[in-house]
Formats: sequence, structure tokens, C-alpha cells
Amino acid sequence: MSKKSAGTPISQYGEFGLIDYLTKNIQHKNESTIKGVGDDAAILDYKSKQIVVTTDLLLEGIHFNLMYVPLKHLGYKAVVVNLSDVYAMNAIPKQITVSIGISSKFTVEAIDEIYQGIYLACEKYNVDLVGGDTSSSLTGLTISITAIGEVEKGKVVYRNTAKENDLICVTGRLGAAFMGLQVLEREKEVFAKNPDLQPELDHYKTLLESQLKPEARKDIIEWFAKEKIIPTSMMDISDGLSSELIHICTQSKVGCKVFEERIPIDEVTAKMASEIHIEPLVAALNGGEDYELLFTCNISNHDKLKENAAISIIGHICEQEEGINIIGRAGNIIPVKAQGWNSLMDEK
Ligand code: ADP
Ligand code: MG
Repeated sequence: MSKKSAGTPISQYGEFGLIDYLTKNIQHKNESTIKGVGDDAAILDYKSKQIVVTTDLLLEGIHFNLMYVPLKHLGYKAVVVNLSDVYAMNAIPKQITVSIGISSKFTVEAIDEIYQGIYLACEKYNVDLVGGDTSSSLTGLTISITAIGEVEKGKVVYRNTAKENDLICVTGRLGAAFMGLQVLEREKEVFAKNPDLQPELDHYKTLLESQLKPEARKDIIEWFAKEKIIPTSMMDISDGLSSELIHICTQSKVGCKVFEERIPIDEVTAKMASEIHIEPLVAALNGGEDYELLFTCNISNHDKLKENAAISIIGHICEQEEGINIIGRAGNIIPVKAQGWNSLMDEK
């Protein structure tokens, strides 16, 4: 637990003192940032580019549990999940604003830890923190982050433009973040029963990292630009592959065939899934929080996509009438449903 019981009370700094303390070292990295923290509003200059804006709200007890999420990781992840949404439009994030509601149990040091994570993500993804808001809260910690980015006209990629015969691709490996959460939940219960027991978490390191410190696919968006590939549709995988396939297919008015054997799942994810008696496929389809990209591409890009080890071609788009289906290893057809977890279990 990284919450500190002893430390500097926020009241010692006051609102303005705290904002100053948290933002005094900011140095802007992007040309488009004209004015950041310190006035009534930030000023940005995007010249002829289109601007992408996205926001996320994180509430203690709903989106994160401070029992097992270190504050620095929380700050990092809060930024990354927003940047992932910007990348999913084929855009490059440039600025964020951060608004926080702080309950009285938090000290200046605790908020500083959150900001260390926020600044680490800003460094890694070359993003400027240009503003925010600060308030006390009666109901725990709240963090809301808004990300702003740019995209050249004509290069933005929506969810509703997948075309028949397009290839369906995903980046990375799926289900790891969900399995990481299962590890944390399990350890929390063990700890509650026996606080002296030190958890053995080394083996699950990759799963915990996926859950606590996910990364957004900046590399893939840069690779698209280098290879002059513009996907026909794209979104990030925040709720699980099933749900995202349904979004793309429904909004694009198409169907799809995704092949079970091609869905990328790593060994540690599969092992943890079997330990807790879940089909690895179920974790990959319904787990969520992977922050990988799901995209469709014209088949003319096949050879380039094949060469990129971070990308798996998992199926193709077909006519809407054919439905949204996964083809199992035995050739069996598994319809993808919104509540895929249960329906998939029933199918087996
Ligand atoms: P206002 O009274 O206009 O809301 P504030 O005093 O809240 O202004 O904010 C002063 C400056 O500090 C603004 O530039 C604002 O964007 C920035 N700011 C406020 N809170 C935060 C925060 N938690 N993180 C980063 N910047 C912040
Ligand atoms: Mg304010």
C-alpha cells in the first residue's frame, strides 16, 4: 500500500500552493503548446491539423482500488488510457489536463506520487500537462484526465468504416490485464486472511504490469505513418475483444469471422486462466483493459502487416448477414454476443 498515514496535510499548502507545488517544474515539449498552467485557460495552436479531444473519469472504488494500486501507477495509467483513445483515432496526443478531487485522507506526498506517475507518462509519450482543476472531495479520490491530440486531415480513422473483405488485426496479446486483476484480487483475499504471508508475485509480473502499468500503442500509430498504412477502421481494446468487435461491425454495418487459433494470448495469461478455471479465450474476449488496438485494413496491406511481430491478423470482415462470429479450433461457429462471458460458457 502506498497511501501514507503520516505526511503533510493538504491544508498546509492550500489549493494554490498545492497546484504550484505540483506544476512548478513543467517544461513544454510541443510546438502546439502556447500557454499551459497559470492562466484561466491553456492556449494551443494546431495550425491546419485536426484536433482530437477525449476525456476519462476515474473514481476510487469504481475504477481503481487503493488497496492494491500504487498511486504512481494510478497516475501513469490514468494518462495512458486517455492517450490510447487518441492513438485509436490514428492521432498523436500532445497535451493533457488533469482534474483531481482529493478527500482528507490524502497527504501532499500522496498526491505528489500520483503526479510522479502522470509526469512519467507525459515524458514517455511526449505530452504536455497544460492545466486542470483541484478540489476537495467528500467521497474519495477522483481523477479526470482530458487528452488533446492532432491528426492530418484525411488520416483520422473511425470505428464505422470497416469494409467487406478487410483484414481484422489486433496488436499485442490479449487477456493479460484481466488476469493481472485476478492475481491482485486473489492476493488481496489471501492477505485479508493472513497478513503475515508475503505474496509470491514474481511469476505473474507480466500480468501485473499489464493491469497496473499498461502502455498505449504509440509505436503502432508511428509505424502506420512510416508504412503509409491507413486502417479502414480502428478502436482501442478497453472492454474486451468481443465488445469491440461488436462496436466495429455494428457501426460499420458488416459482419466478421475471427479465428480462435489466431487470437494472441501469452503463456502466462493462459496459465493463470487455467489456475482459476477460466478458458484463456474467455479472458482474451471479455477481459478488457488491454489497451491494445483492434483495426481493420485493406487486404493490399497484408504483407506489411504480416512482417510486424506486434500485429496479429485474426480474421476478416464479411457481409452483415453472416453475423459476428468466432470460428473455433474445430471449425465450430461461436456467435459473439455483448455479454459474451456467459453465452460463450454456455456454448462450450
Ligand atoms: P480557476 O480558478 O480558473 O479554476 P485554478 O486556480 O483552478 O483556476 O487553476 C490555476 C491554474 O492551474 C490553471 O492554469 C489550471 O489549469 C491549473 N491547474 C489547476 N489544478 C490543476 C491540477 N490539478 N493539475 C494541473 N494543473 C492544474
Ligand atoms: Mg480551478
